[in-house]
Amino acid sequence: MATPVTPAEASPIAPEIPPAIDMAEDVRHFSAKLSAYLKPEEVARVEAAYAFSATAHSGQLRSSGEPYVSHPLAVAGTLADWHLDPQAVIAALLHDVMEDTAITKQEIADRFGKSAAELVDGVSKIDRIENQSYEEAQAENFRKMLLAMARDVRVILIKLADRLHNMRTLGAVPVEKRRRIARETLDIYAPIANRLGLNTLYRELQELSFLHLHPLRHNVLAKAVKKARGNRRELVGKITETLRRRLPEAGIEAEVMGREKHLYGIYRKMREKHLSFSQVLDIYGFRVIVKDIPTCYLALGTLHGIYKPVPGKFKDYIAIPKANGYQSLHTTLIGPYGTPVEVQVRTAEMHHVAESGVASHWLYKDESALSELQQQTHKWLQSLIELQSASGDSAEFLEHVKVDLFPGEIYVFTPKGKILGLSRGATAVDFAYAVHTDIGNRCVACRINFELMPLRTELKNGDRIEIITATHANPNPAWLSYVKSGKARAQIRHFLKTQQQGESAALGERLLGQTLAGLGLHLADIVAGVWERFLRDRSAKSKRDVLTDIGLGKRHAAIVARRLAAAREAEGGTPVEHKPRGAITIRGSEGLAVQLAKCCRPIPGDPIVGIIRKGQGLMVHTHDCRSIGKKHHERDNWVDVEWEPNTTQLFEVGIRIVAENRRGVLAKVAAEIAAGGSDIQNVSMDDDRSMYTTLNFTLQVSNRVHLARLMRGLRHIPEVLRITRTKE
Ligand code: MN
Repeated sequence: MATPVTPAEASPIAPEIPPAIDMAEDVRHFSAKLSAYLKPEEVARVEAAYAFSATAHSGQLRSSGEPYVSHPLAVAGTLADWHLDPQAVIAALLHDVMEDTAITKQEIADRFGKSAAELVDGVSKIDRIENQSYEEAQAENFRKMLLAMARDVRVILIKLADRLHNMRTLGAVPVEKRRRIARETLDIYAPIANRLGLNTLYRELQELSFLHLHPLRHNVLAKAVKKARGNRRELVGKITETLRRRLPEAGIEAEVMGREKHLYGIYRKMREKHLSFSQVLDIYGFRVIVKDIPTCYLALGTLHGIYKPVPGKFKDYIAIPKANGYQSLHTTLIGPYGTPVEVQVRTAEMHHVAESGVASHWLYKDESALSELQQQTHKWLQSLIELQSASGDSAEFLEHVKVDLFPGEIYVFTPKGKILGLSRGATAVDFAYAVHTDIGNRCVACRINFELMPLRTELKNGDRIEIITATHANPNPAWLSYVKSGKARAQIRHFLKTQQQGESAALGERLLGQTLAGLGLHLADIVAGVWERFLRDRSAKSKRDVLTDIGLGKRHAAIVARRLAAAREAEGGTPVEHKPRGAITIRGSEGLAVQLAKCCRPIPGDPIVGIIRKGQGLMVHTHDCRSIGKKHHERDNWVDVEWEPNTTQLFEVGIRIVAENRRGVLAKVAAEIAAGGSDIQNVSMDDDRSMYTTLNFTLQVSNRVHLARLMRGLRHIPEVLRITRTKE
């Protein structure tokens, strides 16, 4: 983020203060840093980027009153300290130009190459999501989102250097903003630095955050530590002297360093363990650096011989490194006067990794070594695996690193700013089910970043998703073809199954009622006792199961009806006389249990026949449909059906129109269909470039009368030669 920018001309006091803060010295210093590890032509390219940035930001000032370009220069300086490649340093110099000036990504690519432009773009994208508010409890997800969005580790490194400089210069910023930025740094950026093993940076970010978040506590603690340092100087000197003498005596060549614990660490310990400052004894630590791993363990043994170790405090991060690659042996010794002292033992290489973490693997050598991003990433992961290979489960370790840097997950915002993690490729439907099953079941549309989008849209990191629901909406079976998450898939299936069972049970009840009527019985005549006897004899679970089975065609309504009649007589019911059975009426709104055959597309008014097939429910065909009637043995499955007198649904029907192949004929036909009160579901055209063309429509009509009226209207169009209803 660009910390407060004030265009010079907007400042009322600008004319009195000449913007004569000289950057020349800083630039010379920066160039010297670059020359230490880059070739002259690379240094020249980076310097050109500086000049470009200075021009782009000219006239802008920071809150401190310095020229704005001092900020990108400082950020690039940090990357140069880390010896990062020229593209990364160039990107650092330009990291704010896309957000704060009119410069485009293309312009950067043209001048400084695609790679630098991608990096600048990556940083700008993170700046944009940073502006979304996040809930404190969601810091972990926010960090993952940042890492997922960055893709290239260098984007994160630029972002961290950016944050470091903003934190170092936070004093000039208003108090409220200062606190917010400090909080965010502590929650988001310091842990990322830690995750990447950038320890020096991690500690400085924590110290600065602590200073700006709790200035009073920070000052009190700083004074106390200063005082304690005076008191314990003698102690520290004594331990240092002892170690420097005794280790070589044991044949160990070692560098011994005293190390002051940082304030935030002490503060956190006091808070977490409810200690007063005087109770926090180990404000000093020591570091012993040796030449190789065996010597680490030798040194440890020697240390334990000099001072007694505190039991349970020993940790072997050499055998089992931390996830960020950190390695060392940690032990706490009981020093002179019973003061506990923490000692870390490590090799020089481990020390280097501990201080600069991932950046140490990015050390820039020369152009030929800088290959594709993926290779570099691979190399970095590889080095982590090598660190790990000493022991432990490296597959799990690699998985851990991958999850954080190259996740199979994406992170998106709810309208209230909550962050949800979804698997890569997830759609708006997956999101809806992730929020709540009811939201998923009732979703009809979505807005992604405030724009209406199809539900099947694949979501991207940082998207803001709003789901639009309707009270009576149901899941669509088509969603199953694109949802990614197991939860969404399971919920959609569950809903459809339950729905179909409900519909099948209703159909089964109607089928059974119809058949019972043929026996002179009514469903109401079958009382609970009769059902119980029936269920017992047939070892069926429930009445509902039996009805569902009938609706699905798994049981024959006629057989169930006969057995129910028998059970009724066995229970003492009086025999009844047989009556002719009536037909099942079809409304067209039965849902999945009753389907109108696609081959003949029956509409109200057509003579129809129902066919019930095992597990499929009832299929309704027109009487003359060619797909039925060939197999006589199937007639057992036929069900007498007729249309309900006043259906209110719309039904799909196919018509074929042969017309003269003239311009605008389709428009005329479509207009006539609309005028006739029908909707076009589908249209196809045989374009054979001859004099005549065939148009195939699928329309929605109420019934045969409606269709007849529509066709009459269409015949009046002069170009139309022939109209037929299609059945195939
Ligand atoms: Mn910045």
